[in-house]
Amino acid sequence: MRWTLEASVLAASVGLTPDPRSLFSNLCSLLSAFCFIVDPMSITRREFAKLGALGLAARFAPPLFAQPAEHQTGYAIIGLGRIASHFMPGIRATTNSKVTALVSGHRDKALRIAADYGVPESSVYSYENFDSIASNKQVDAVYVALPNSMHAEYTIRAAKGGKHVLCEKPMATSVADCESMIAACKSAGVKLMIAYRCHYEPTNLKAVSLIRSGALGQVQAIESAFGFNSDPGEWRLDKKMSGGGPLVDVGIYSLNATRYLTGEEPEHFAAFTSVIDHDGRFNTVEENISWTMRFPSGIVAACNTTYGAQMNGSFKVHGSKGWIEAEPAFNYDGLHLRAEYSGTRLDEPNPARDPYQFQAQAEHFSHCVQNGLEPKTPGEEGLRDMRYIAEIYRAAGLSL
Ligand code: NDP
Repeated sequence: MRWTLEASVLAASVGLTPDPRSLFSNLCSLLSAFCFIVDPMSITRREFAKLGALGLAARFAPPLFAQPAEHQTGYAIIGLGRIASHFMPGIRATTNSKVTALVSGHRDKALRIAADYGVPESSVYSYENFDSIASNKQVDAVYVALPNSMHAEYTIRAAKGGKHVLCEKPMATSVADCESMIAACKSAGVKLMIAYRCHYEPTNLKAVSLIRSGALGQVQAIESAFGFNSDPGEWRLDKKMSGGGPLVDVGIYSLNATRYLTGEEPEHFAAFTSVIDHDGRFNTVEENISWTMRFPSGIVAACNTTYGAQMNGSFKVHGSKGWIEAEPAFNYDGLHLRAEYSGTRLDEPNPARDPYQFQAQAEHFSHCVQNGLEPKTPGEEGLRDMRYIAEIYRAAGLSL
């Protein structure tokens, strides 16, 4: 299966909305997206910087065109932890979305955040009374930012309540749970998107665009890595809550990147895991995993992830006519693209700042919800990664 980088993907990825209030940001977005569509090879450094800075441009739009949006998709944020603290400012930067409810096990924290976002106390829920959110007309969608093992339950409960679901990666902790989540959303007639923010991010999109244009010639091999030194006591180190170690948490960025960079689905897998630090952190999950994959065209990919060392998120793609690399490739900001091919040399830092990726992601999902469109990273995309993760663990002699 090949992925297409259509104008609509680009438009959505840079946050185009039909909302006339977004005129300014949409014009900027269109200009930059146009550069990709007309000739991805001709993007200048300044145009790229402009595309990267769109988050800022969009933020200036509301004061310039200060009318209320016709409709803003209302989100209930489920789980007020680290990633939610990036996503909520991202929502605030959009013109087509807003935070309208919070779901938390810590009411004091939730009330503080509610005051900041103008959420009424009556729209602050606990995990126990969450199902009553069904009758809250201000909530169109939920954002599931819970530990991985809770994604399936809250996606399914939200769908039963008639709410669209934007769920964090990894989609769940088993293939069966991913399938149940897709089925629940289908039968409830609500949309399901997995929060693969790199699909809505200009540095990653430019790499895809250059590869598809043939600039690198025939792609032969990819290297990718992402990891960090995990603190003890994290739910991430408990397989029951996480589903696995660094592979499901951050290795998934490399796995997913090899798929969007090649536009192919991996067919063959080999893998090794190890635990070096016997300090109690790795009793149920791997510390290191290194895996290789072969794609149908013959492209090979080699990836590493770890919970035992700081490992900058990166990818490097080698083609017959040159190479392209992003390092960092998966951080919230500060991304940097470099390439050399057919006499061209690129060195492009992306100036956009957090939360621009979360803004673009939320704008895309809200746009899909408001216009009856299928998100670019639907549940099926999360399910595919989960199947490959199961294959990688199997190849290493472990199970998901
Ligand atoms: P945190 O531990 O920081 O936050 C999770 C939140 O879930 C908690 O703050 C808590 O919120 C709630 N929660 C409910 N039950 C539990 C429980 N038993 N144990 C712990 N927390 C619980 O996790 P992250 O924000 O780092 O990760 C959340 C999800 O987001 C994961 O699926 C992760 O993979 C994903 N993620 C995605 C990233 C991205 O870039 N897209 C980056 C980081 C994480 P409360 O106190 O309000 O109840």
